[in-house]
Amino acid sequence: MTISLEDDYEALTQFLYIAPIGLVQARIDGEIMMVNPVCAQLLMPLSRDGELANLFTALEGVAPDLRHMVQVFGGSHGMVCDAFHLQVSAGRAGRLDAQILSLSLLKLDDQRLMAVLSDVTKSVKRDRELRQSMAWINTIVTGLTDYALVALDADGCAQTWNPSIGRVAGFDSAATVGHSYSLFYPADGMSSDRALDRLHEADDSGWSLDEGWRVRADGTRYWGSCLIAPLQVRGVAPEQEHPTARAYSLIIRDISDRREATEALRQSVSSDYLTGLANRRALFEAANLEVERWRRMPRPLSVVMIDADHFKAINDAHGHVAGDAVLRHLAAGMSFNFHAMDVVARIGGEEFVVLMPGITLAGAEAAALRLCRSIEAQTVEVNGAFIRYTISAGVAMMEEGVQGVDELLERADSAMYAAKTKGRNRVERWDAALAPSHAGLRAARGDRQRNG
Ligand code: GH3
Ligand code: MG
Ligand code: MG
Repeated sequence: MTISLEDDYEALTQFLYIAPIGLVQARIDGEIMMVNPVCAQLLMPLSRDGELANLFTALEGVAPDLRHMVQVFGGSHGMVCDAFHLQVSAGRAGRLDAQILSLSLLKLDDQRLMAVLSDVTKSVKRDRELRQSMAWINTIVTGLTDYALVALDADGCAQTWNPSIGRVAGFDSAATVGHSYSLFYPADGMSSDRALDRLHEADDSGWSLDEGWRVRADGTRYWGSCLIAPLQVRGVAPEQEHPTARAYSLIIRDISDRREATEALRQSVSSDYLTGLANRRALFEAANLEVERWRRMPRPLSVVMIDADHFKAINDAHGHVAGDAVLRHLAAGMSFNFHAMDVVARIGGEEFVVLMPGITLAGAEAAALRLCRSIEAQTVEVNGAFIRYTISAGVAMMEEGVQGVDELLERADSAMYAAKTKGRNRVERWDAALAPSHAGLRAARGDRQRNG
C-alpha cells in the first residue's frame, strides 16, 4: 500500500488538531482553513464579530499590523514573526494580570500560513519575578564590605558560631551561641518581640530584610542589613514541620559604603522636609505594620498625638520663620525624648504622632508627660526673640475593637482634644467616655489643610 501525499497531509492535520498548543492554518489572505480547539479558545474572546473566519480579522484588535507584515514578507516561505507578544488585556492593579499571548506566524508557501498561538501570561509573570529577584540578589552582592552568616533556632538564638561573625561584628563564640540575634543591634533598636516578628515574617514571605545601625562587640556602630530566611529541613514540607524545629539563616552585611546613598533615598521619600522626622506616609506604613503584628500576637502598642498650644499666636507674634524654628525645636525635643524603636512623625502643620511598639498606655503617658515638662521648661531663641511654648498630648493604646490605624489615631486625637479643653500643657488618655474628635477623623484621612 502506498501512502499518498494527501493521506500524509490528513495525518498531519489530525495531529495538529489535537496538539496542546494553539494552531491555525490559514490561506495567505488570512482565511482560516483549520483551527484547533486550544486556538479557538484563545481567539474567540478576541474576535469582534464572534466568528473565526479570518486570522487577521480575529487578531485585528491586538495585532493590527499582521496582514501588512505578511504582505511585505519577502521570502517564498519562512518565519513572518517569532514569539510576538500580544498584550490582550491591560490587567488591573492588584486584581488581574495582563493577559499576554505569544504568536508565531510561519509562511508555508505562497498559498498557506501556519500560526502558533499560546497564552504566556504566567511565564511572562514568572520571568518578571525572576528578574526582580535577580535585581534583589544584585543589591545584596554589590556594595558589600563584609558579611557574617549565622544559623538561628526557632527562638532566634544563634546555634553556631562562625568566624565571619568575629570578622564583621567582633563577637566571640561564647558571646554569640545561645544568644538572640538582637545582640547585633543597638540596645534600643530591637526588642525580643520584634526579633520574633521578623522570624514570622520570614516564614510568611520567604525572607525578611531590614537595614539600619548595627553594633559590634566593642560597642562601635556600623550600618548594616540583616536578611533572615527560613532554612527548610530536608524532605519536610514547611507546613508539616514542628514549629520549634524551625531554623533560619541570618546574613548580616556591613554596608557602610552604601549608607549615604540608601539613607538619602529613604529620607527623601519618608521624611518631613522641615523637621527631618518621619512624614505621614512613613508613619502610616509603620503603623499598619505594627497593627498587623498586633493582630498576629497582641502586645502593647501605643500612640501619642501631640499638638503645639496656641501656635497661631506664636506665628502672629514672631513670624512664620520663627514658628518654623519652634517646630524644629519641638521635633528635636521629641527625637531626644523617645526611643529609637518609636516612630516619631510630623503629620500636619504643628501636629505630631509617636508610634510606640511594645509600650503600654501608662508608659506612653509617662513619656509624653516627660516631653511636656521638658518643653515647658525651655526657651527657644530665634533672631533675638526668646520664645516659650507648650504642647498638649493624647495617648491611646491598641486593643480589641479598634478597627485599625485610623481608629487608633482618632482615639489619641480625641484624648489630645480633651487635653486642650482641660487647659492645655497636659497629657490625657483616651477613654470611652470621650466624644470622638472629628479633627481626628480628618487627620487620619489625610485631608487636613495646612492653614498657615
Ligand atoms: P491650639 O492650642 O488649640 O492648638 O491652638 P493653635 O493656634 O495651635 O491651633 P490651630 O490649629 O488653630 O493653629 C495651628 C497653627 O499652626 C496655624 C498655622 O498658622 C500654624 N502652622 C501650621 N503649619 C505650620 C508650619 O509649617 N510652620 C509654621 N510656622 N506654622 C504653621
Ligand atoms: Mg493644630
Ligand atoms: Mg495647635
